[in-house]
Amino acid sequence: MTGLAGAKRIVVKVGSALLVGADGADAQWLAAFAADVARLRARGQQVLVVSSGAVALGRRRLALRKRALTLPEKQAAAAAGQSALMRAWEEALEPHGVHAAQILLTRDDTEVRRRWLNARATVETLLALGVVPVVNENDTVVTEEIRYGDNDRLAARVAQMIGADVLVLLSDVDGLYTADPRNDPSAEHLPRVPRLTPQIEAMAGGANAESGVGTGGMATKLAAARIASAAGCATVITLGARPSPLRAVEDGERATVIEPSTTPAAAYKAWIAGSLAPAGALVVDEGAAQAVRRGKSLLAAGVRRTEGRFDKGDAVVIRDEAGHEIARGLVRYEAEDAERICGLKSEAIEAALGYTSGPLVHADDLALAAHAAA
Ligand code: GLU
Repeated sequence: MTGLAGAKRIVVKVGSALLVGADGADAQWLAAFAADVARLRARGQQVLVVSSGAVALGRRRLALRKRALTLPEKQAAAAAGQSALMRAWEEALEPHGVHAAQILLTRDDTEVRRRWLNARATVETLLALGVVPVVNENDTVVTEEIRYGDNDRLAARVAQMIGADVLVLLSDVDGLYTADPRNDPSAEHLPRVPRLTPQIEAMAGGANAESGVGTGGMATKLAAARIASAAGCATVITLGARPSPLRAVEDGERATVIEPSTTPAAAYKAWIAGSLAPAGALVVDEGAAQAVRRGKSLLAAGVRRTEGRFDKGDAVVIRDEAGHEIARGLVRYEAEDAERICGLKSEAIEAALGYTSGPLVHADDLALAAHAAA
């Protein structure tokens, strides 16, 4: 009913409070959760985990137990704790024959397009290899001004980056209520939120006080859900402290599902078509124009010339020789290399450049102009 069973790609955010007990990583919870993840993987679903816990584990390691840490102390704790965190994930996943891979991101990695594309390519490769990427913020290098700040938002950005269909935020409450259930007996649980209205957002106030170990309360969960929803990804907020929280959701235990407002593919195409300033253009012959209109990749063979100084990963306009815009897309070669391979068959690209990145613009990265669809 949450769509978890039908999802192809799932991002699960695990907070510090779940992972870190009084004596370090909570191996028992992790072992049960790893079994839950392995079950999804065995069904052919791809799972990425966004895991907090570096600061909490590092504090213990470095005996920094006083309440408030300075920023350099927090960063030192994260540096010492991140390796312990990864060891805990590896030990939990290993019995299932599943490898973990560490990915540390900063905000720029999801906002600067070139880095975004690189990070996405790495995550795609790991997922295709059956690995469970374990993502955290790269706390040791970010300053307060450029932080995501909380892993709920980081998880939503990662879900957007990889076109996930479901984002699961494991929390210390089993979803969203109309009021704070701890002090208002009339509070009602909301199993399904079709749209994030201002009224729904107002309910987040006080519904989930900070737990003391991690950051984000319910307001940051809704901020994350807003990012996910616009990216075509459903958000599930549920209790994380159960041994197998994903199975529990599938079995119908309490959760709140916030529905997406679009599909991942449509959100991605809208982003290419609308949000990016094109850095150049590719002028294509009639055959290539037809192919692109039918949803095919743009091959170098059909490109007559390039315009502008674009970089690999930049948005470009695709025009026919009469100057009509056909589509926009993300180009896989920088301008100079693109110019050198204009008109070449795909097999000849490697000889010309010493490498190949495939088609000039891949079909997945193309958004047709409104009037251009065949
Ligand atoms: N990145 C932080 C850590 O691993 C946690 C941030 C959060 O929980 O929101 O300790």
